[in-house]
Amino acid sequence: MSNRLPCSRCGVTRDIEIIERVEQVTIKGREISFNAHYSRCLTCGDEFEAPGQLDANLDAAREAYARLYEAPSPETLVSLRARYNASQKAFGAILGFGELTMNGYENGGIPDSTNRLLLKLAADPLIFKAMYDINSSKIGMTQRRRIEESEGFQTALRWAGVGGLLPFLTQVQQGKIEACAERYQRSIPEQVAVYIGPASFRDYSGMYVEARWSDAEATSLSPAITQSSPTQGAA
Ligand SMILES: [Zn+2]
Repeated sequence: MSNRLPCSRCGVTRDIEIIERVEQVTIKGREISFNAHYSRCLTCGDEFEAPGQLDANLDAAREAYARLYEAPSPETLVSLRARYNASQKAFGAILGFGELTMNGYENGGIPDSTNRLLLKLAADPLIFKAMYDINSSKIGMTQRRRIEESEGFQTALRWAGVGGLLPFLTQVQQGKIEACAERYQRSIPEQVAVYIGPASFRDYSGMYVEARWSDAEATSLSPAITQSSPTQGAA
């Protein structure tokens, strides 16, 4: 890093030093302390933010806020890991952390922004499974078996292909779809298609007042559809 920069007070390029001091800012109504960096002209003593320092100081303030108010709590992390029935070490390996990292976080350590992102993503079973598929060779057989039998992992397996629906379904709706899929020995995508088929025909015929499709016609156009109708009327 260059230690010579243009000083606006001197009007010429001068030797500068980098100084660091703790500053307070208010973000979303909360006062945050962070380490800010400035450049000081060694000739006139003027302090200024060099190119890059302004952004770096803003980032430092945002990161200080996120560490205090957006980091997952130890309890959240314990329950996240429990959903996949993984040891701290195995869970860390799947997310690409060091061996002791999860232990540190579950004891109050604060994840950095990259690891916060990974932990947030891992809460989605389908994303966790994608991470697992990449890193499962890093963990032992026993841990692999435990994880693959876990509720979270099984959810990812069942909902593969239609995982995008999960955020739009309540737990009860999810459970009903899973129960029906199991009862009729369908995959979840097949079960969802069974529900969508008749409903979409009704919607479509509704758009064309003259068109009247019977359930039998709808069924003949879509052989996979059997005697089922969407559950929303029943609730
Ligand atoms: Zn100067």
